[in-house]
Amino acid sequence: MSDESFTTLPISRAAMANLATLGYKKMTPVQAQSLPLILKGRDLIAQAKTGSGKTAAFGIGLLEKINPRFFGVQALVLCPTRELADQVGKELRRLARSIPNIKLVLLCGGKPFGPQKGSLAYGAHIVVGTPGRIQDHLRKETLELKGMKTLVLDEADRMLDMGFIDVVKDIIRHAPRARQTLLFSATYPEKIKRLCRSVQRDPVTVTVEVEHDPGVIQQLFYEVKKHERNNTLLALFEHYQPRNALVFCHTKKQCDVVARLLRDHRVEALALHGDLDQRQRDQVLVRFSNDSCPVLVATDVAARGLDIKSLEVVINYELTRDPEVYVHRIGRTGRAGEKGLALSIFTISDQQRIREIEIYQDKPCICDTYASLDRDPDFSLRPPMVTIQIAAGRKNKLRPGDLLGALTGEAGLAGSQVGKIDIFDMTSYVAIERTALRQALNYLSSGKVKGRNVRARKVS
Ligand code: AMP
Repeated sequence: MSDESFTTLPISRAAMANLATLGYKKMTPVQAQSLPLILKGRDLIAQAKTGSGKTAAFGIGLLEKINPRFFGVQALVLCPTRELADQVGKELRRLARSIPNIKLVLLCGGKPFGPQKGSLAYGAHIVVGTPGRIQDHLRKETLELKGMKTLVLDEADRMLDMGFIDVVKDIIRHAPRARQTLLFSATYPEKIKRLCRSVQRDPVTVTVEVEHDPGVIQQLFYEVKKHERNNTLLALFEHYQPRNALVFCHTKKQCDVVARLLRDHRVEALALHGDLDQRQRDQVLVRFSNDSCPVLVATDVAARGLDIKSLEVVINYELTRDPEVYVHRIGRTGRAGEKGLALSIFTISDQQRIREIEIYQDKPCICDTYASLDRDPDFSLRPPMVTIQIAAGRKNKLRPGDLLGALTGEAGLAGSQVGKIDIFDMTSYVAIERTALRQALNYLSSGKVKGRNVRARKVS
């Protein structure tokens, strides 16, 4: 992560507030380097991979230029695959929440043409899709790019590797000359340079270090006697004092026991395992991601698919038998350019597991001793935010902006006191700074959101 906050950028206040609700505080390196240039309207070549925050980099840029009152395509994002287009579409929709009535249409192959045509006829501001299908729409004149201001070529190297060069060039022939062209690519071979020369105007190049480098994760192993496991876990918290952590256990029961142990020692923690029903799981994940619960204690299965942004430390309460699972577990820290820390507790009977991890990673495991841990007996880990649940959701047409507007408007909270907002079908969650909890609840229980009374309660 860079040290720069989004507040240094010339973007609208609504966009800024929305970034806060998404939990984006600091810019990633690619954002810090490219956004000032993108917002100045420059063409850009950025060498950045998935995971670097590149979607928000071009997303924030292109959204600033959208005029919601003009119902024509103003931004086009070309992606090599349907999966990537889906992912990009989702992130852009999240970023676009600050602008009312923005319409984004996904145009990918493998999907029926008719509904896409219908969506376009209705008027789209942003199109995201794969080259083949977009070319089809242009040929059939169901898509028009005359009003396009921003063109993004995402994962351009993959697009060319997949043989899309002529299609991409054909699409660009339908676009106005006066446009901004942003090209993102993990690599920068000659064929990409040639493409840039032919489709960009005086581009600036931005290169960021490789993200997800396993080298940024510091791994330490602590050998303990079996009965010292719990005490060591507490010592790790008291010594390293992380802001947040994911603790891995083997069994569901162990997750519950360990979460309780931590709570009994002033470390706020929740268990995440397969015995939770969907609603409980949603709540745990929401609270973890919105800074109102700093520690999750999870099984591997329950942690599958967990999309965690910046996790300071992963702790293995027990080592896994499978070195691949170990590497997968620790890969949850050290993301988006931040330094990661992985701490593992093991006993003498786990020696073989340690050796397998060494072979798998082709480097020795560095062991530290329990005795070396300085403990701060006053350490406590209390989250800065509290989650409020509101008994209305997407099905009630509730949107993040409605909640943010009500809380920062009539309820009188500062924008900085409102955190991430998650809207589900029938229910919503908003993170509120602990000190503003009363004020928020008082308002929600007596005031109105979108002209309707709502029921709200603190989640605990
Ligand atoms: P991308 O490289 O665009 O696929 O983004 C990787 C992940 O980082 C996505 O889940 C984004 O939601 C997230 N992300 C992007 N920018 C930031 C930021 N400034 N702070 C925290 N998370 C971010």
